[in-house]
Amino acid sequence: MPEHGVTGERQSISREIAELARMVVDVGRCVVLTGAGISTESGIPDFRSPGTGLWTQVDPMEILSATAFRTKPEAFYQFILRLCDSLRAAESNDGHRAIARLEEMGLIDVVVTQNIDGLHQRAGSRNVLEVHGHLRTGTCVKCRRSYDMGFVLDVVRRGSLPRCDACKGLIKPDVVLFEDPLPVDFVLAQQAVIESDLLIAVGSSLEVAPVCYLPGLASRLAIVNLMPTSYDSRAQVVIHARAGLALAALAEAVRLESGGNSHSEQEDSRNSPGDIE
Ligand SMILES: [Zn+2]
Repeated sequence: MPEHGVTGERQSISREIAELARMVVDVGRCVVLTGAGISTESGIPDFRSPGTGLWTQVDPMEILSATAFRTKPEAFYQFILRLCDSLRAAESNDGHRAIARLEEMGLIDVVVTQNIDGLHQRAGSRNVLEVHGHLRTGTCVKCRRSYDMGFVLDVVRRGSLPRCDACKGLIKPDVVLFEDPLPVDFVLAQQAVIESDLLIAVGSSLEVAPVCYLPGLASRLAIVNLMPTSYDSRAQVVIHARAGLALAALAEAVRLESGGNSHSEQEDSRNSPGDIE
């Protein structure tokens, strides 16, 4: 029976979940870092799992590169079109919703994500740093004018390349391509992790640059990932489970642990005079 399986899976991680819930309630600033593993449960395949979904016919690292955008913009945009269509069809899952709930309770300060699917925002998260960018807007490569991706994709659907009204420069989606420099959001993410008391890494192998450097900056580390990571030995709590299951259990355990503490109580304790901002 599938339900029995989920119950068993929950029980096997209950001690770690309770420990992490206590940490989340007790520490000051908490940052969550999410990778592809949180979105696979929404049906979005991991870029690095070749042969799944959109990635059966193309190598994502080749097509989603600055070189491909420059040298083969038509093929690049045909792929972006299919990617956007598949992401639009995806829904946020229990993992995204649990993070949004903890953020609303004032227990998570910042969500740092490697994902470009926008599912954290759709689940209700507000303070999201997208270290690989996003697909909501595009920018003219010449004059930096910003365009809505809806407009850009309409042009692509009509069989043309999206060009700037003002200068005719090509419009580039605001996603970080392979070979691109690091975005501002990564610098902000580094700062957020340095200033945090706890980093919870969810659904990330923690092997991909630049995100692989973030756990090393954290004062306390918790890991939620199906597979072991190279940081497991340095983490205070390690939970090998599906992100949706583990985070839903965490949100519930936090609710019990905090005894229904209100958001304002959390804020009050956090803004004690001893805090250095
Ligand atoms: Zn322009």
